[in-house]
Amino acid sequence: MMNIVLFGPPGAGKGTQAAKLSEKYGFNHISTGEIIRDEIRRETPLGVQVKEIIAKGQLVSDELVLGIIEEYLNNHRDSIGNIFDGFPRTTRQAEEFDVMLKKYGDDVDVMIALDVPDEELVTRLRLRAEVSGRADDADEKVIRNRIDVYKAQTAVVADYYAEQGKYVPVNGLGAIDEIFGRLCDAVEGQGQ
Ligand code: ADP
Repeated sequence: MMNIVLFGPPGAGKGTQAAKLSEKYGFNHISTGEIIRDEIRRETPLGVQVKEIIAKGQLVSDELVLGIIEEYLNNHRDSIGNIFDGFPRTTRQAEEFDVMLKKYGDDVDVMIALDVPDEELVTRLRLRAEVSGRADDADEKVIRNRIDVYKAQTAVVADYYAEQGKYVPVNGLGAIDEIFGRLCDAVEGQGQ
């Protein structure tokens, strides 16, 4: 089973590209953000618990996210590949993720990181707000906070995978299909 971590700041295009990759390669797309937003929409106890945190642009707890991933892994043993979008977002999540995968004799094959400059991120997220209806896209303060949280807590996750020789940066600027082509090259470069 191929496990790809698709990495990058908010607005880098992970969701868009993960959907295209999963369609092309038949991989599952796991977005922790989407799973959490679905819990919020359904007003589950978990959703109610994290609604305010998400609205402020902060990270939810590692325990909560790790629980979501563990349940996913337990229930999808037959997947030929997985694209993790928005996870892991802290070093602790990355470490625990390795422990979980190891239980199944699995590991992360590659972290593909989309590189996009800050000002482009803000522009994209403000545009996305008009169609996504996401509360955390609507307010520039929250957008900037998410980028700050990314720099403070998430960017280091790239070092974790770089130390294992699994970090592949990709230019995230350009047309969607052009970026997709670069990502496909990175995926197909695996195991060569
Ligand atoms: P974006 O990358 O555009 O910020 P996501 O959909 O990936 O959007 O995440 C939205 C929000 O969900 C995050 O700001 C955070 O509050 C929460 N979240 C998603 N994934 C995680 C994670 N792995 N760890 C902690 N919080 C997360």
